[in-house]
Amino acid sequence: MLRLTTTTALVMLSTTAMAEVPRVLTDIAPIHSLVAQVMGDLGAPDLLVPAGGDAHHMALRPSDARLLDQAQVVVWVGESLTPWLDEPLRTLAPTAATLTLQEVAGWTPRMYPDADDHTGHEGHEDHADHDDHADHDDHTNHDHDHDHEHDHAGDDHTGHDDHAGHAHTGLDPHAWIDPVAAKVWVGAIRDTLTATDPDNAATYAANAAGTMQRLDTLTDQLTTTLAGVPAGSWLAPHDAFGYFEDRFTVPSAGAVADSEAVAPGAAGLSDLRERVSGGNVSCVLFEVNTADDLARTLTDGTTAKTAAISVAGAGLEPGPALYATLLTSIADTLVDCTAS
Ligand SMILES: [Zn+2]
Repeated sequence: MLRLTTTTALVMLSTTAMAEVPRVLTDIAPIHSLVAQVMGDLGAPDLLVPAGGDAHHMALRPSDARLLDQAQVVVWVGESLTPWLDEPLRTLAPTAATLTLQEVAGWTPRMYPDADDHTGHEGHEDHADHDDHADHDDHTNHDHDHDHEHDHAGDDHTGHDDHAGHAHTGLDPHAWIDPVAAKVWVGAIRDTLTATDPDNAATYAANAAGTMQRLDTLTDQLTTTLAGVPAGSWLAPHDAFGYFEDRFTVPSAGAVADSEAVAPGAAGLSDLRERVSGGNVSCVLFEVNTADDLARTLTDGTTAKTAAISVAGAGLEPGPALYATLLTSIADTLVDCTAS
């Protein structure tokens, strides 16, 4: 009897202690990693999109609905990345404290080109060709004006008609691959957790400070690692690396698939093939855990190499360490694959 009572008391104690830390739900593995670092030993956040899952296009499973229902705090990039999550968030987690990272102030969003420009990949190509993007830093509000600074006259890329149903416009949501933006988001994560769980404010503050310091170190390391990568020497698997390219001045020659990871049509492919056989592109990347056929087709008969890369942590173990591992692996892959 005594043993049972002791056990019951212990269970009650631990339940009470646990209840103080909110149940936190995150969208993708890199965001999960940042939140896990801020929570530290207090607890682990839940992850909605499995590492390697297609964040742009996912159907909510019953288990996901349960996670949303149980969440007291939700941290997600926003509907630019996961449009399918917008409505379930409002209907299944109406009372959760929701932090929408794309709406956080203090970082510099980049915009995809306007729809009427019809420049999905070409916008990226221009990006690679222009070295001076200092002008972008002037646009604190980042309206669409800078997209029109580039001359798209003469573009004749009918391949994009294949994507008629997809919006290539608006905010580029893949900002977590810029550790400087991630650092701003960590501050917002700390504030949201603290507002929901003020008792642990000091722990969240200390953990966030440590995370920010690690992000500074990571930024310095990656800057050194990437210093020798030639401009325009690689093709991204999908149009998701713009923030990384801007931060570390490693412009790509474009992307194989578009901003929502939709594969190119025949015209788009032949355009990419021309770019690779032209000789400047020495590396064609494909997504980790996906087929490399397209990359092989593009590099066949050329000296260009192929390699696997992930923007959202495919193949990595979710957790506090994932974020730095992911960015370091992107940088190392770029260096290896573009080296002659
Ligand atoms: Zn993406």
